[in-house]
Amino acid sequence: MNNFLVRLLRLLTIIFVWTVIFMSFLMLNLAFSTFPNKYIDKELLPYVEQVYERVNLYCDKGEVFNPLRTSIVFSDLDTDILGQCSRTPLFWKVEINKKTWDSLKTIEKQMLLFHELTHCLFKQSHIKHPVPHYMNEMIYEIPLEELLAEFEIIAKAHCKEKL
Ligand SMILES: [Zn+2]
Repeated sequence: MNNFLVRLLRLLTIIFVWTVIFMSFLMLNLAFSTFPNKYIDKELLPYVEQVYERVNLYCDKGEVFNPLRTSIVFSDLDTDILGQCSRTPLFWKVEINKKTWDSLKTIEKQMLLFHELTHCLFKQSHIKHPVPHYMNEMIYEIPLEELLAEFEIIAKAHCKEKL
């Protein structure tokens, strides 16, 4: 009798553990299929597309940081921050400050998206020299050709396969 109870308990434990594993798997699956894995604010999309067009010139898909979830959105940040990139192993998020966005010139908006996406996609930190550089901590008004030339150097250094 005792032996029977022990075996029953063991069986129930196994069933319970597998149910928990199965349910967790189901819920994780549901979570990732319900919410979009990639979200880009409509207004930011043209600027983001410009960046990805350049990224694709130098990098293959697997060479940029592409976690389960990525988003590029407007946020209410402190007025001295134009934007920021936050990263974890599972996601990255670019937040653009809604308060300051409208006061930026078109070239500055483009540069800001290049700047933040360079942080997120290449895990690139700020660059102190040369100044001005689009990866300096401050956003400088630099000509587009100069920005693209600087981006090319960073992207090529990061993505070696297409060289
Ligand atoms: Zn930055």
